[in-house]
Amino acid sequence: MKSQKLKNKVALITGAASGIGKAIAELYAQEGAKVVIADLNIQQAEISAKNIKASGGEALAVSMNVTDEQQVNQSVQQAIQTYGGIDILVSNAGIQIISPIDELSYADWKKMLAIHLDGAFLTTRVCLKDMYKRGKGGSIIYMGSVHSKEASLLKAPYVTAKHGLSGLCRVVAKEGAKHGVRANLICPGFVRTPLVDKQIPEQAKTLGISEEEVIKKVLLKDTVDGEFTTVKDVAEVALFLASFESNALNGQSIVVSHGWYMN
Ligand code: NAD
Repeated sequence: MKSQKLKNKVALITGAASGIGKAIAELYAQEGAKVVIADLNIQQAEISAKNIKASGGEALAVSMNVTDEQQVNQSVQQAIQTYGGIDILVSNAGIQIISPIDELSYADWKKMLAIHLDGAFLTTRVCLKDMYKRGKGGSIIYMGSVHSKEASLLKAPYVTAKHGLSGLCRVVAKEGAKHGVRANLICPGFVRTPLVDKQIPEQAKTLGISEEEVIKKVLLKDTVDGEFTTVKDVAEVALFLASFESNALNGQSIVVSHGWYMN
């Protein structure tokens, strides 16, 4: 049997009931991790956990709205009680809201920053406390985006939040270092998940072009080959970062985007 890269590790992944987070949870479980699927959508999270168990993995679904301080703390405690601690946090939960700035409501602006930034802070804080207490180090991975580096039309709060994650990641890398905790940022290009499928018709409407044109002329315009990144591509990078054991790879961002934005 091939050696498992995350054997005896516990990984908590937010937003793991769908898309990129789900693929990361599945790959981590295949690599021997006990995975905690933390999501707003508990029904879907339970289905994902059940599927992982049916394939011989270990998984726990927990209900978590990443913007709810009490719920984040409680759900992480539940995971710690079940599996003994958290070794890997993947802060991944996210949504997209498309709007030009002059038409964007303050409520939508705040909602976006809350899910992406408050959620990353709240989950980081509680997991870091556990990692520091146990003294076994850890790995924190933030799901940024090419929008952590670049801007696009209609995405002001998303671009702002994704840039913000890169700042949080670097501070965690510095503060965590003496405890053996590393922090890194993954910056995917466009991946066909529900988050992207929803925005294609919305962008087509706002920009007055067809859905095919949104894909070719907006989403994939700057890739080297006109290809979408896949959930598997992103999961493989998340596995690499989680299983890289030294502080040498710390405070970095990895862009996985078919060449859209080159560091
Ligand atoms: P998705 O819609 O498939 O999955 C997002 C998951 O997050 C869902 O299961 C949803 O229930 C959960 N979620 C939403 N709000 C939540 C909250 N408040 N608390 C807990 N869970 C919540 O989307 P995805 O494309 O897999 O996106 C995952 C992450 O990847 C996001 O941070 C997104 O910004 C980022 N990302 C996506 C792409 C892409 O093209 N799909 C590209 C770059 C970065």
